[in-house]
Amino acid sequence: MAIRNDQGIVLRGYPFGESHRIVVLVSPNSGKIRAVAKGVRKTKSRFGGRLEPFTHVDLVLYEGRNLDTITQVSTISAFGELRNHLDRVLAASTMLEVVDAVVQQDESAHRMFLLLQRGLTVLDREAPHPDLVTSFLLKAAVVIGVGPSFDSCAGCGTKEDLKRFSFAEGGSLCDSCRVPGSYALRDGLIDYLAMVGAAEFHALGEPDESLSREALGVTRRFLEYHLDRRIKSLAMLDA
Ligand SMILES: [Zn+2]
Repeated sequence: MAIRNDQGIVLRGYPFGESHRIVVLVSPNSGKIRAVAKGVRKTKSRFGGRLEPFTHVDLVLYEGRNLDTITQVSTISAFGELRNHLDRVLAASTMLEVVDAVVQQDESAHRMFLLLQRGLTVLDREAPHPDLVTSFLLKAAVVIGVGPSFDSCAGCGTKEDLKRFSFAEGGSLCDSCRVPGSYALRDGLIDYLAMVGAAEFHALGEPDESLSREALGVTRRFLEYHLDRRIKSLAMLDA
């Protein structure tokens, strides 16, 4: 049996046996990690709160036949301020949920890890910009290889008259390339999505309230289409 070091951001955990917990993390090198934290459900756990969601930790793992066991944990970043605000927690939860849905075990996940880390860092510093989650989802789509095209028609390449958006075609469409089931978008929405997708999280521009909500709606449905699953935490954001 070998001991190895790794690092990761905690995505979630669930009970295992009477007093243990399985912790699910995303690691830049190893993708999704599932490991046992023994005795964490006792009142005086030696891991404290270090294995709670959002925490970026350094780990020492004891490799098992089926599951690794966490033997040591130290906090790299707790994102402690983020946890004090419900709106930040909700935005961060959507980020975790998407990362959890796309990252695989034993497959490096550098870009997705860095994207999540940048998202949590900005949420630790400030209240969520109305377009932050939209920007995160668009960037996540790029990382998994389904980034939508906004600057030209996904059918013929023209840059003019882009008023439709197709999930299956992977982006905006001009009027002549429209396909059944493509959405008619409000004027300005394609440009708005392009801007939100390209901007760094800390440098998102002045939000346009009327476009912001629709941008999130379209982006969410686009990503759900490609992931073939609902993003449940976004239903809470909507509420
Ligand atoms: Zn076209």
